[in-house]
Amino acid sequence: MKDVFNSGYIGSTTREELADIFLLGCPLDATSSFRGGTKFAPESIRRASWTLETYSPYLKKDLDEMMFYDAGNLELRPGDLAYSLELIESSVTEIVAKGKKILVLGGEHLLTYPVLKAMKRHFREIQVVHFDAHCDLRDEYEGQKLSHATVMKRVKELGGSEMFQIGVRSGTKREFEELVPIESPASLAARLNRNMPVYVSFDMDVFDPSLAAGVTTPEPGGLMFKEVMQYFSVLVGMNIIGGDIVELAPDYDTTLVSSISASKVAREMLMLLHA
Ligand code: MN
Ligand code: MN
Repeated sequence: MKDVFNSGYIGSTTREELADIFLLGCPLDATSSFRGGTKFAPESIRRASWTLETYSPYLKKDLDEMMFYDAGNLELRPGDLAYSLELIESSVTEIVAKGKKILVLGGEHLLTYPVLKAMKRHFREIQVVHFDAHCDLRDEYEGQKLSHATVMKRVKELGGSEMFQIGVRSGTKREFEELVPIESPASLAARLNRNMPVYVSFDMDVFDPSLAAGVTTPEPGGLMFKEVMQYFSVLVGMNIIGGDIVELAPDYDTTLVSSISASKVAREMLMLLHA
C-alpha cells in the first residue's frame, strides 16, 4: 500500500529535472490576527490529495499527464519573520530562474509578498487574480506593515501589478475604496489582458465556511466550489506563471473538508499552470 503520509502531492514526480512545475510548501505562520495554525496546511493538503482523483472533470485534464515536482517544505524560522520572508523570496527566485512555474502551499497570506517580489524580477508586469473574503489592503495592522491583512497593499507597492479581487466581503471603508472588485466570471474575462502573465493568489477563506471552516478568519457568505471553478475556466489558456493557496488552518476542521477543498483547488491550479 502506498504510504500517503510520505508521498508528496498525488501525481507528483520525484524527478525534479523532468518537471516544469514546482510545488513548494511554505509553512509561514507568523502574523495571524485571530488564530494561527497555517503551518500545518502544506502537509494536510498533500495528505488530502490522496482522497482525490488525478483527473479533473472541470478542466478535463489528468495530473498523470503532467510533470510536476513536489519540492517539500521550506525550513522557515518561527519567530524570525525577516529570515523567513528572505528565504521564501530567494527560493522562489531560484525556481523561477530555472524556468519553472510554481504553486506555493501556505502558510499565511503574507507569503504572497516575497513570492511576488521574486516573480517581479523576471516578469515586468503581472496580473494578480486575488481570491479572498478580505481586501488585505490595510496599510498597517496592529502596528505591523507586514501582515496577512496588509499583503495586497504591499504587493501593489511593488508596482507593475494589475489586481483583480474576487469574493471580497470584509474590510474597512477605506480598503473597499481601493478594491478592484470582480463580481462575475464574465467581468474577469472582460478585464484580463490575455497577453500579460497571471499570478493567482487563493486565500481559502474566499470559500463559504461550509466548505472551509478550517481557516484563520472564517467569513460567512462566501463562494461555493462551482463558482470558483467558473472563475478558473476563464483562466484556461492564459499565461499563468504561478500561484499560491493560503490561510488553511486544518486543525480547526476535524472533518478534513477544508483540507480536501484546498487540495482540490491545488489540483485545478496545477492544471492551469500546465499550459
Ligand atoms: Mn482572507
Ligand atoms: Mn488574505
